[in-house]
Amino acid sequence: MKNYERINTIAQKGIENKKAYLIGGGIGSLSAAAFLIRDGHMPAKNIHIFEEKQVLGGSLDGSGNAKDGYLARGGRELESRMECLWDLYGFIPSLKNPNRTVLDEFRELNITDPIKSNCRLVEKCGQKADFSTLGLSFEDMMSLNKLVLASDDMIGNATCEQWFKPEFFDTNFWYFWRSMFAFENWHSVLEVKRYMVRFMHLIGGMNQLVGILHTEYNQYDSFILPLITWLKNQGVDMELGVQVTNLDIKVTDTEKTVERIYLTRNGKEETIETTVDDFVFVTNGSMTENSTVGSMYEPAILNRDKKERGCWSLWENIAKQSSDFGHPEVFAGDIDKSKWMSFTITITDNTTVLDHILKLTGNAPGMGGAVTVKDSNWLITWTTPKQPHFRNQPENVQVFWAYGLFPDKVGNFINKKMCDCTGAELLTELLYHMGLQKQIPEILASSKVIPCMMPYITSQFMPRSKGDRPDVIPKDSNNLAFLGQFSEIPNDCVFTVEYSVRSAMMAVYGLLKLDKQVAPVYEGQYDVRVLMEAVKTMMGNREISIDKMIGKLLHNTGLM
Ligand SMILES: Cc1cc2nc3c(=O)[nH]c(=O)nc-3n(C[C@H](O)[C@H](O)[C@H](O)COP(=O)(O)OP(=O)(O)OC[C@H]3O[C@@H](n4cnc5c(N)ncnc54)[C@H](O)[C@@H]3O)c2cc1C
Repeated sequence: MKNYERINTIAQKGIENKKAYLIGGGIGSLSAAAFLIRDGHMPAKNIHIFEEKQVLGGSLDGSGNAKDGYLARGGRELESRMECLWDLYGFIPSLKNPNRTVLDEFRELNITDPIKSNCRLVEKCGQKADFSTLGLSFEDMMSLNKLVLASDDMIGNATCEQWFKPEFFDTNFWYFWRSMFAFENWHSVLEVKRYMVRFMHLIGGMNQLVGILHTEYNQYDSFILPLITWLKNQGVDMELGVQVTNLDIKVTDTEKTVERIYLTRNGKEETIETTVDDFVFVTNGSMTENSTVGSMYEPAILNRDKKERGCWSLWENIAKQSSDFGHPEVFAGDIDKSKWMSFTITITDNTTVLDHILKLTGNAPGMGGAVTVKDSNWLITWTTPKQPHFRNQPENVQVFWAYGLFPDKVGNFINKKMCDCTGAELLTELLYHMGLQKQIPEILASSKVIPCMMPYITSQFMPRSKGDRPDVIPKDSNNLAFLGQFSEIPNDCVFTVEYSVRSAMMAVYGLLKLDKQVAPVYEGQYDVRVLMEAVKTMMGNREISIDKMIGKLLHNTGLM
């Protein structure tokens, strides 16, 4: 965004009498509340966030203690062109030093402790696999090229398997790609295209994760805590344990207006009447809805309940009221294609794993990023985050995180499907792949492992068509906006924190009719330096002639 556009907005007439209701307490709603205050000039006391759980933050979680084990369902790969996210954290004060922002400290950390993986792939029980190139053939490159140049409409709801040849799925590129972003072969190739374009500037460093940024602690501690502290200080009303079950939306040929919110508060059903002067923001769908946890000696049992599923049930009720409100079943209808599991490992008074990882990878904690086990039946990827990973983590404790893309497959060492494994069994399989088979009993005795099964974790990647995701502000809406991963934002990529924050900015600026631009989605594909670097990497770092390459890139595209 040009500096010329970084204006302070003028308050909308009568804003002091309007109310905003934000349904769901994830980063989508929390950031919308922050933008309502900063840009919308809405009094904080008029902003109400309803969260069904007893904790805010949604998918950005981080909980537990050293004795019982820590749990973070996910870790986040971030990057510098997440424009709306960095705008948000550029004004949220840090908890350590209120004179600095979260962004100030985040950037500093990534300058002093940048990620550059020395060991992106392993195989054969703890041996480094070759990760020097993407391993793409000319044909693979051409199908990626064709994908990047195709329009969303041309791609439609095609899957990766339908777009690429079988050999493509054995390339290093696909190992890197699917383990970084959690793509399965049956997922939407349209999302692959959006990722290719949106993150083109990262392809040059992809094999070593150069350009990927990390937080000091888990993202609840690093992102959510400072944000809710700021919102609380402003006076935003954040209610826990409140589940919104439905909305009454008056739909006419020219208008859509939320008139009533149905909710359950402390087990009691209540309603809130709303008018065209109020604003209702709904997070429709959540990748972590109905996630379940196990323990060291119990597996995490998959929750297949289709009646009680928070955001999804609410979206289903809303979608019945107009075809402009999207189609939740497209994303949440096939749990077996959208589920996978992660596990968080807490090790006390034992540095065998940490020492081994340091020796194997040569990366200090936090600076290596994801390591994927190429020959793992579950396709395990582990990370060693910067320690301590939790604010309350004692010095003698280390926390690691891992996940597997194929929970229905039997392990290489543990003769069980991943989804049926206890925490102890999941760690055993991981240690086998790390080359620590002999040390398994000793490490298990010092560990707590919490498995987590997420039925909808990749629901946002399910093949979709135009209209399956509602627009952030649906056509003719007076007071309703959708937030999060299942709203439609042209050109941006789901499964990112940025997408939810961007939806919040679009929703607030749009509904309040603010004269301010939402920071545009970064378009590295129009920067010839970015483009050529990506092509060079995809061609195995061979020297390339720019003239020839542009000719090849544009061949048969209608431009040449
Ligand atoms: C394992 C994992 C790995 C990830 N990796 C990355 C990554 O590498 N990089 C990246 O940028 N992003 C990553 N993400 C994605 C990112 O965390 C999410 O996109 C983002 O946090 C979603 O925020 P949200 O507010 O849109 O939705 P959510 O965080 O899902 O919030 C929805 C909230 O609504 C609440 N709710 C649901 N129904 C109701 C109801 N009826 N009434 C009231 N409240 C309700 C839920 O309890 C929840 O708190 C990852 C996520 C996970 C889980």
